[in-house]
Amino acid sequence: MESIPGYDDWKTSPPESKPAAYCTICGGEMYEGDTLYTVDGGICETCRDDHYGDFVIGREVL
Ligand SMILES: [Zn+2]
Repeated sequence: MESIPGYDDWKTSPPESKPAAYCTICGGEMYEGDTLYTVDGGICETCRDDHYGDFVIGREVL
């Protein structure tokens, strides 16, 4: 079995930064500076658009 150069690099490198929160709908990682929408326990902008469209809901910047 040949080894693939660089294959393990992404696994062994420490993450750049830890997620500040996770979206409760898609489970996506959210980082500082991202906008967290305070509905359903905290969701990302993409899920907010998908589920609520332009409906105004609370938001906070992490
Ligand atoms: Zn999401």
